[in-house]
Amino acid sequence: MFRRIWQESKEGWLDLTGLIYPHTCAGCGQKLVKGEQEICLACLLEIPQTHFHRDPQNPIWKLFRGRVDVGMAASYLYFDKGSRVQSMLHAIKYKGNQNLARQLGMLYGHVLSQDHVLDGMDYLIPIPLHPLKLKKRGYNQSDVWGEGLAASTGIILLNNNLYRTENTASQTRKSRIGRWENVKDIFALHKPEEIRGKRVVLLDDVVTTGSTLESAAQCLVDGGAAQVNILTLACAIKI
Ligand SMILES: [Zn+2]
Repeated sequence: MFRRIWQESKEGWLDLTGLIYPHTCAGCGQKLVKGEQEICLACLLEIPQTHFHRDPQNPIWKLFRGRVDVGMAASYLYFDKGSRVQSMLHAIKYKGNQNLARQLGMLYGHVLSQDHVLDGMDYLIPIPLHPLKLKKRGYNQSDVWGEGLAASTGIILLNNNLYRTENTASQTRKSRIGRWENVKDIFALHKPEEIRGKRVVLLDDVVTTGSTLESAAQCLVDGGAAQVNILTLACAIKI
């Protein structure tokens, strides 16, 4: 009897906390059920994967062609305004949902491993945030996403070598050339010898113009990496 009352009150308390802090899907906002983590099963099944990694000359690879020497480039998801993916990215970047970033990294890692896309890669290197931005947000979303990728692929996450040399101004209103001028020398390596002769994979959350990734990739090429590859969580470029 006592046990039953205790259980009921416990469940009641859990329901109450659920009302105050509802655990909802980061994609569609529906309440999550038991077993679902961060995103519901429906969103998980309908997640708009690009499968670009299966096409060596996919739109992401073409975005960097002629700009920087990139081996393989791909994005996990299509990004559209108002879509579930936009909600997920917002949750990762602005609502502190690091579990979601890790989960998406794990999922993408499984997909890429199944297709042997990352065989022989030495390091995953997230695009670093400027220290001031990192302090404000508390975490680097590409870093956390990379933790998930590293966990499901077994590739080492190298997040203490590539760094930003200065804080760049907002890039939204600048032209492509203006943006490039803005970002071309913003990355450097603490220990170039660590990546010399290695096959590395640069990670970023979203690719739009590719200017930041281009700059970081060029820094790794100049540092002596044998091959620089690019992976992003989502792509916002017009396909
Ligand atoms: Zn959902």
